[in-house]
Formats: sequence, C-alpha cells, structure tokens
Amino acid sequence: SNDYRVVVFGAGGVGKSSLVLRFVKGTFRESYIPTIEDTYRQVISCDKSICTLQITDTTGSHQFPAMQRLSISKGHAFILVYSITSKQSLEELKPIYEQIVQIKGDVENIPIMLVGNKCDETSGREVESPTGEAVSKKWKCAFMETSAKTNHNVKELFQELLNLEKRR
Ligand code: GDP
Ligand code: MG
Repeated sequence: SNDYRVVVFGAGGVGKSSLVLRFVKGTFRESYIPTIEDTYRQVISCDKSICTLQITDTTGSHQFPAMQRLSISKGHAFILVYSITSKQSLEELKPIYEQIVQIKGDVENIPIMLVGNKCDETSGREVESPTGEAVSKKWKCAFMETSAKTNHNVKELFQELLNLEKRR
C-alpha cells in the first residue's frame, strides 16, 4: 500500500498535538489537553498517485519505552518538536533522536524534521534559530520553525517531509 507513517515526538506542551490538529483539521485551541496517543489519517496526492499519510501524535517524553520503540520501528518519517520558548524541550529531544539512530541505523536515509514550534512567541524566545539549525546539522536532518497558532509553516512542514521521502 501507499501508507506513509509519520511519528511526532517531543516534550509535553511543545505543541505536537496543535501542529497535527492544525494540519489535519485546520483548528487551534489555547487549552492544553494531554495526549495519550492518537493516530490521524490524511489522504494526500503524491507523485501523481494517492497515498495515506498516517500521523501518530505521541505523549512525548513520558511515553512507555516499549511503545516508543514500536513507534520508531513502524515509522517512515519523524517530526521532532521543541518549543522555541524552552531550551529544556530541545534538550529532551536528544534521547529520542539517539533511539531513532539506534533502531533505524543510517539516519541519513530517513526523513527527520527538527521543528522549533511557537515561533509566534517572540518575547519568550529561549532558542535562537541558528541554535536549532546547528543541532539539525549535527543530526543530519532538516529544520524548520513553525507556529500552530498562526499557521506559520505547518503545511510546509508536512510537504517538506514528503519531499525528503521522495529524494531518498
Ligand atoms: P503537546 O503536549 O506537545 O501535544 O502540546 P499541545 O499541542 O497540547 O500544546 C500545548 C500548549 O501550547 C497549548 O496550550 C497550546 O495552545 C499551546 N501551543 C501549541 N502550539 C503553539 C504555538 O505555535 N504558539 C503558541 N503561542 N502556543 C502554542
Ligand atoms: Mg499532545
């Protein structure tokens, strides 16, 4: 089948669910509702055919280790989200990235996007763009800043992930 599985990781509160809901439903909510684990399906056109984008929105860093390993094993592409308002949230991505490397091996052939979300919160910024970019270079992955709130770069994020897949 043309199923393409994307897994979204990141600390609690960085906006994983907001990014997914903005992309899939076009909505945004101010309240924080912790996620268990949700999967969304979106039919999209890719390469003149149709494929199903299956997006798994995880709980973040408190996911059960066995569940996290399973999501990584099954995933084709990964979105690693931190908030630009929290240095800590960027640091929390490191063990997740390392586990992806451990399970998938050669990460250069796997579409991974490092995402600095909440870029609308300019006054609370703790992570400068060049810092995020430097981490993405080290991790040999792509980088983007987004805002689920203002809808900045959200469509582009998923589009770019598909482009990375095609370039493999
Ligand atoms: P998750 O735990 O990573 O899934 O985070 P949520 O998507 O539940 O979002 C946590 C909180 O951050 C919520 O109150 C959201 O309204 C807020 N939030 C999410 N994305 C953004 C964003 O891009 N900008 C701003 N300002 N707030 C956001
Ligand atoms: Mg969530």
